[in-house]
Amino acid sequence: MFKVVLIRGDGIGPEIADAVIDIFEAAKVPIEWIEKQTGLNSIDIAPNGIPEETLEAIKKYQVALKGPTTTPVGTGHKSVNVTLRKVLELYANVRPAKSLPGVHTRFDNVDLIIVRENIEDTYGGIEHNQTADVAQCLKLITRPGSVRIAKYAFEMARLYKRKKVLAVHKANIHKITDGLFLKCFYEVAQDYPEIQASDLIVDNTCMQLVTNPERFDILVMPNLYGDIVSDLCAGLVGGLGVAPGGNIGGSIAIFEAVHGSAPDIAGLGIANPTALLLSSFQLLQHIGLNKTKFRIENALIQTLKDGIKTKDIGGKATTKEFVQGIISNLEPFIEDEFVEPKPLRIKSELLETHKDVIEDCHGVDIFVENPLGIPKMPEQVGKLKLQMISNRGTKVYPGPKPDIWLVDHHRCRYIAIDENENFINIGDDEIFNLIREISAAGIKWMHIEKLQLFDGEIGYSKAQGE
Ligand code: NAD
Repeated sequence: MFKVVLIRGDGIGPEIADAVIDIFEAAKVPIEWIEKQTGLNSIDIAPNGIPEETLEAIKKYQVALKGPTTTPVGTGHKSVNVTLRKVLELYANVRPAKSLPGVHTRFDNVDLIIVRENIEDTYGGIEHNQTADVAQCLKLITRPGSVRIAKYAFEMARLYKRKKVLAVHKANIHKITDGLFLKCFYEVAQDYPEIQASDLIVDNTCMQLVTNPERFDILVMPNLYGDIVSDLCAGLVGGLGVAPGGNIGGSIAIFEAVHGSAPDIAGLGIANPTALLLSSFQLLQHIGLNKTKFRIENALIQTLKDGIKTKDIGGKATTKEFVQGIISNLEPFIEDEFVEPKPLRIKSELLETHKDVIEDCHGVDIFVENPLGIPKMPEQVGKLKLQMISNRGTKVYPGPKPDIWLVDHHRCRYIAIDENENFINIGDDEIFNLIREISAAGIKWMHIEKLQLFDGEIGYSKAQGE
């Protein structure tokens, strides 16, 4: 028996978890459930909603099936899912979107998988109010994070005999952050010559997904795009009631439906368990029980073809009637050879991602607050000369000020450059002197960014008009 941690969750969680357990029992799936709690049920013992015992069990057994949990609004603990993802380093969010018979949508031949980087990007939650009028969020894209998720997508393509992996990005605008993601993607792609690697800008991807989703196979993308595009894809195949997902790390994997605890229908016996059942198929595939997966999948498909469906997807069946339909459609039991599990685990020792580069600093961007217009900045301090000031990314000084709104947050770019326009390397003392002078002049500064060359390549973006 394979031991799997079961978290029923709250709201409709227990009802849909029971549905999966009943189907697995009828199908004689060789899984022993180790039941643990999270969320609202456990805030008495764990203020963050995750008791230590649950965390330990997930670490020990490494595979979990989780029902949805309610996140209190405004007060209380953070989302249990987000916490689990972070503390267990579950870096890949895998969301298949596949058309199901009997679930009527505009398209009937969708079969794609979104592989979403699950930890980085703006989801680090590093945000600051910069001034009274301006807030900022850091988008962190890393080389190790991008290589790891790209590798995961290609390994998945190889294992599941998929043909194409598409990187989704916005590197035309976010040239440095998404540019790094894309660069890592193509570096990794070289190790998988049999798989077609290509890339597409995220807005174009969305347009093509809603017009021609059949052309897509595996899509890999940074966190924020993945969050949005995966819900779009759930909509393509019938909505939240049929959208499964897996959060996967180096050794641990937690499978769960995409939807929430649906408090509006909890206890009514009408919840659709399909999304959690489809998530359990991902789990079976993860632990190598492929024949069992196909057997239950066939029963689900037949039940939907028979027109036995819950209300959310246009049927009249209760949760129990739907489950009975699936059980009665199960083909005769076949022994599943519990093949050596082939989970999609990317060992971190396989990832040689760090690159030694030479970093030379030749300037700084200093962000200052001035609600009264373009700030009066010192033109030169030591080797550092004021090169330009930009407002919301557009150059406003020197030269004619473009006809744009000015907010109270200005980026002042200082660069050390010789008479031949070559960069001069500077040390921290040059920067400290500049800040001291700015501060002494009564100018309020918020933060600074070094301007550097990485192996001779400029490592920062230019302002519009610079
Ligand atoms: P929700 O997904 O719970 O519900 C949205 C709508 O879809 C509701 O009308 C609901 O009845 C319906 N619905 C969802 N799942 C269904 C199913 N299986 N069968 C039939 N109908 C279904 O979203 P919400 O109402 O915004 O969130 C409720 C709670 O769930 C919140 O506390 C939220 O934070 C939490 N949540 C948890 C998870 C998770 O644990 N994975 C994910 C999302 C939201």
